[in-house]
Amino acid sequence: MRIDQLQPLFSADIMGAKPIIMAGPCSAESERQTLETAQALAGCGIKIFRAGVWKPRTKPGGFEGVGALALEWLSKVKAQTGMLIATEVATSRHLQEAIDAGIDVIWLGARTTTNPFAVQEIADALSTLAREKRESLAVLVKNPVNPDLELWIGALERIYGAGVRRLGAIHRGFSSYGKHVYRNQPRWGIPIELHRRHPALPIICDPSHIGGKRELIAPLSQQALDMNFDGLIVESHFAPDEALSDASQQVTPKELSRIIGGLIMPTETQSTESIGRLRQQIDRLDDELLDLLSKRMRISREIGRFKREHNMPIVQAHRYNDLMQKRVAAGSALDMSADFIRRVLAAIHEESVRQQIEINAAEDKEE
Ligand code: PEP
Ligand code: MN
Repeated sequence: MRIDQLQPLFSADIMGAKPIIMAGPCSAESERQTLETAQALAGCGIKIFRAGVWKPRTKPGGFEGVGALALEWLSKVKAQTGMLIATEVATSRHLQEAIDAGIDVIWLGARTTTNPFAVQEIADALSTLAREKRESLAVLVKNPVNPDLELWIGALERIYGAGVRRLGAIHRGFSSYGKHVYRNQPRWGIPIELHRRHPALPIICDPSHIGGKRELIAPLSQQALDMNFDGLIVESHFAPDEALSDASQQVTPKELSRIIGGLIMPTETQSTESIGRLRQQIDRLDDELLDLLSKRMRISREIGRFKREHNMPIVQAHRYNDLMQKRVAAGSALDMSADFIRRVLAAIHEESVRQQIEINAAEDKEE
């Protein structure tokens, strides 16, 4: 499905002042916390206020949001500050209650995007909204927790198919097992590929959930802007350390304002002459890389023939592990991450194996 008949996500005053900034607490916890945080953010020039009302927690017993009562606090935020109000919906009931409370922006959380049944339920509910509501509501779809671009696009297609035209994506990183620098791995290549496939779709970066730590918000936000993301959604709380959810990744409105002030917006003029020359160099290097890869594949096909003649298995784990270890060490001496080298080599190896299997299949046919 082509997602190309889109309306601007927000009004011209918000869209004109790139990047789009959405900010607010992970969860609306009390009327005072919601209103005071919102007023401070409005004072910093923030125009879209986010707050979780229903919170998907990994385990029972965590703070699961105060529910519909918090929608009343969000309505007050809108009345008192003039900010647009945004919250996460995970069911058709959430959607209806949010609409009734005058919510301007909804988002589908990462856990919801993972489940096509849940996304379709929300899409069906969206499609039954009155036309002007469906056309004015902005809907953002977070990436699924797992690094599956098709699942993310599928969710966007379901919402677009329901007639939503103010549609955008939020990149919040991908879960992985074990301890890492980031709470959710950014895997920037995935949102970049989403942009390549659906260039009209705005993409907003969520540095709070990617980083999981407040000190990572500034560098992640800058990286997102450097990669031409359209906006940022950042968690901000008037007393972050006391937050009932995601305390370590929230910042005060004042700190957020300082972070935003320090961001450098890449401009078109920076990307004219000098970048043109650098891009030519990249094009040349990519040609060389492709040439090298095809030479490598040719040799690997020769090895495939040898293995076949000598009845050897195609995949030999010890050789693969040995090669991987050596390349990772060589790559890290050249300032490339182990994870990157592993992924590049795994992709090359997979293609070599595919070509060797193809040779076997072709020769089986001949015999
Ligand atoms: C949130 O935005 O507070 C949230 C729960 O995010 P995610 O769905 O990205 O985990
Ligand atoms: Mn959160």
